Amino acid sequence: MEYEAVIGLEVHVQLNTRTKMFCGCKNEYGGAQNTHLCPVCLGLPGALPVPNQTAIEKTILTGLMLGCHIAPRCKFDRKNYFYADMPKNYQISQYDQPLCLGGEVKLHTLAFPKDVQKEPQALAGKSIRLTRIHLEEDVAKSSHYETQSGIDFNRAGTPLMEIVSEADISTPEEAFAYLSALKQILIYGGVSDADMEKGQMRCDVNVSVRPVGQKEFGTKVEVKNVNSISAVRRALRYEIDRQIENAKGNVPQKQETRRWDDPKGQTTPMRSKEQAHDYRYFPDPDILPLRTDIGSPSLLETAKAALPELPEAKKARLTATYGLSDYHSSVLAAEVGLSLYYEKAAAGAKNKAVVANYLINEYLAVASAEDEVPVPPEYFAELANLFDEGKINNRQAKEVLGFMLAEKKAPGVLVKEKGMEQVSDTGALEKICDEAIAANPRGVADYKAGKTAAVNAIKGFVMKATKGQANPKVIDEILVRKLAAL
Ligand code: ADP
Ligand code: MG
Ligand code: ZN
Repeated sequence: MEYEAVIGLEVHVQLNTRTKMFCGCKNEYGGAQNTHLCPVCLGLPGALPVPNQTAIEKTILTGLMLGCHIAPRCKFDRKNYFYADMPKNYQISQYDQPLCLGGEVKLHTLAFPKDVQKEPQALAGKSIRLTRIHLEEDVAKSSHYETQSGIDFNRAGTPLMEIVSEADISTPEEAFAYLSALKQILIYGGVSDADMEKGQMRCDVNVSVRPVGQKEFGTKVEVKNVNSISAVRRALRYEIDRQIENAKGNVPQKQETRRWDDPKGQTTPMRSKEQAHDYRYFPDPDILPLRTDIGSPSLLETAKAALPELPEAKKARLTATYGLSDYHSSVLAAEVGLSLYYEKAAAGAKNKAVVANYLINEYLAVASAEDEVPVPPEYFAELANLFDEGKINNRQAKEVLGFMLAEKKAPGVLVKEKGMEQVSDTGALEKICDEAIAANPRGVADYKAGKTAAVNAIKGFVMKATKGQANPKVIDEILVRKLAAL
């Protein structure tokens, strides 16, 4: 029997607000431990929460970017449980009235892992439906040592979005693409840096398997502790194989939570769902229900005004404005920082496609799109112009690019320093061309006999004589003219 996987992801995203969700303490990653605290986020008796308006607007903005329905009215609820990282013994969350409902994440080709981008599944353009997005507060961060545990309350009470997908994901590669595409949107909207390694985006992976053709879902396993997008792919590959193996051996799957051990490359049991909590949710009596649709401006209107140009629209505009190929536009649109960089570079360049070529085909071949380009965009414009004006040829331009990135000097300066200016002085070239023709009677004869490609042999002679620094366009002109006159 053939089996298939069914996957749904729950993603927690830290919002990059200045302050925490219900108090004025700083929301800051990496501050000295236990320095951003107050009675509210420490859960001291009598402290009263005040919702952070920016966090609500950023959550609505996220919902708008993902095509969610924004609830006109919602509320906050208490999720009760006792745990050391939760000083109030309840977490303020949203239960039955989340801010955002529905929506979807489109899986575009470049969001897939590089090694499968050319495969049909990456080209199909599937969408993953969202169930909901709600807003809650994060808990403190605990660290466990040999005999002790420590708690840092700086994170307690910071705003956290939970984005829940439908179980629409079918492969580890789709899960990877979902997370990459989601991260891209979050960065576009400026709501979070969404770095999984920093815990700014955290993912619980739900997965089950079922015989192909069966409609009902199998029993799901929730995998925790997966700390990067590529680890989600690895964890799923392992877990799906394990579950299929069990299914084939008629080992029943119990509903459980497992932990991903990345160095070992396996999931291990954490707890089974029989001990599932009853969170006794109820509306938080300290916080009034929210209206997102009234007020001037309303929360919804403020979020709408902050809507950025989204990846697909950006891609279309880049293609239309700069005459770029579809591929170049997608690569640029995939990384909002890179596209801004490109547009600055293109502004100073005569040939916009040449800039894209050096930035994408040459620079990105050796660097990551997420990293900041180490030189100002004007340098790429200058490089493109030097090439476009025939001052350097393509081979030289690539060389200059290498020097430019290593030495952080402007291309014009480098061309002079390295003595790379193409010989475009026609007087000097005329003479060398005469020599080349004299030295290649065979090439000349072939050319005269109609084999126009024979000109290349003569051209090769000129290139050699000028150590590759002759302007190929100029040589072509001179040679064709001289040969015609023979
Ligand atoms: P829980 O109450 O355990 O958190 P939910 O019903 O809220 O479960 O679902 C949590 C996530 O698990 C969602 O992303 C959902 O799509 C996914 N999910 C639910 N059932 C399954 C299943 N049988 N197999 C895989 N994923 C599932
Ligand atoms: Mg859950
Ligand atoms: Zn506080």
